[in-house]
Amino acid sequence: MTIEELKAEAKKHGYKLTKEYPYISLAPCVCGHKKISAPMIYGGTKIPYFHRCNKCGFSSEPARTKHEAKLKWNECVENARKEKENA
Ligand SMILES: [Zn+2]
Repeated sequence: MTIEELKAEAKKHGYKLTKEYPYISLAPCVCGHKKISAPMIYGGTKIPYFHRCNKCGFSSEPARTKHEAKLKWNECVENARKEKENA
């Protein structure tokens, strides 16, 4: 059975399948601060989610989903770290 068939079958029975993502923890900010704000929402855009550090204001690129926003945050932190090291 393919995923599409499974979805169709679930729908027939009144269920909706949703993909479960592995839990991703947010990397600490470049400033070392660990409290990162929950996904924030830009008004009315298609890529509404992003994270921002509560201390220094470092923010990640916006993403379409909360899951993607986490990945983006980690990516942005890592890139910023590398840039710092190379500077
Ligand atoms: Zn910070």
